[in-house]
Amino acid sequence: MNERLDDLYRDIILDHYRSPRGRNPVDRPDIATDGYNPSCGDEVELKVEIDQDRVKNIHVDCRGCAISVASGSMLAEVIKGKSIDEIKEISHVVRAMLKGDTDDIPEDLGDLDALKGVRQFPVRIKCALLAWLALIEGVKNFEEGHGADGSSISTEE
Ligand code: ZN
Repeated sequence: MNERLDDLYRDIILDHYRSPRGRNPVDRPDIATDGYNPSCGDEVELKVEIDQDRVKNIHVDCRGCAISVASGSMLAEVIKGKSIDEIKEISHVVRAMLKGDTDDIPEDLGDLDALKGVRQFPVRIKCALLAWLALIEGVKNFEEGHGADGSSISTEE
């Protein structure tokens, strides 16, 4: 990255980019959503297995720039073990934060705070949003009873 991200943010993002979390396969997903960010060419494949209303396994395969991969990796780390209600809340907070609508990130979300730095680079915001928009769509489909059928989203609505 040649962008002037603050050092701390850059280190966290590069760590997730170099060793992304959530790469194990999920064989029987309850949520399956693909996402595409045409403005940068980033792609994400999101699969989530739910057990007793909680995230049991998650697979986030993001192919694209460092910001998109790091954001997907953070998503995988943060939502593991969380309930459906919790991941809905987290994903909406992250979306609002990336869009600049809020600065209030709950402290237990740790590394996600680093994504705030992305707001300095408006062209990168969609890269960071990609995996989260896929999650929001996937959870919506899951609640409607067809999360496993597969769906796809684009950052250009
Ligand atoms: Zn990107």
